Amino acid sequence: DLYEDDLEISIKVVIVGNGAVGKSSMIQRYCRGIFTQNYKKTIGVDFLEKHLRVSDEEVRLMLWDTAGQEEFDAITKAYYRGAQACVVAFSTVDRASFEAVRKWKKKVEDECGLVPMVLVQNKIDLLHESQVTAAEVEHLAKELQMRLYRTSVKEDLNVMNVFQHLAENYVSRV
Ligand code: GDP
Repeated sequence: DLYEDDLEISIKVVIVGNGAVGKSSMIQRYCRGIFTQNYKKTIGVDFLEKHLRVSDEEVRLMLWDTAGQEEFDAITKAYYRGAQACVVAFSTVDRASFEAVRKWKKKVEDECGLVPMVLVQNKIDLLHESQVTAAEVEHLAKELQMRLYRTSVKEDLNVMNVFQHLAENYVSRV
């Protein structure tokens, strides 16, 4: 009911990173429990939501998907507006996406200020084809002072932990 709704903490989370690193898949996995090799992005669907508990509080995460339009400025403004937490994602098998992490972090800081952020190395199931070393990933995470999660959206590894951590981090600040 309305009263309960007022008590709820809502957090807008944006997920950024180069195309094809698995951002949409991560949202689908976390919110709907599904994974598909060729999920069709729907332009116009703003976000999916998921409720979780953080130390006795009910938290509502609204996970915003760019629908692959992240390079277009008009979409960008609405996408970042009011964001309170962020995932910066790259892919284990896409070196350029790793090299773009700095740029994405800066973009979020420019648009949203300082919000809780985590670094996600996705597609860890493809480690045998990795284009990045563990050492350089750890080095970057340390340098950027970001908590690092290695995930496989495909195998459902660590995805929940990313969002639980972000929610806890956010709640501990309010
Ligand atoms: P986005 O452009 O960042 O939103 O990326 P998508 O979610 O569209 O994912 C791009 C492709 O990577 C799709 O074919 C996904 O099925 C695939 N994908 C996403 N996550 C994983 C993963 O953890 N492992 C593997 N092997 N493929 C993944």
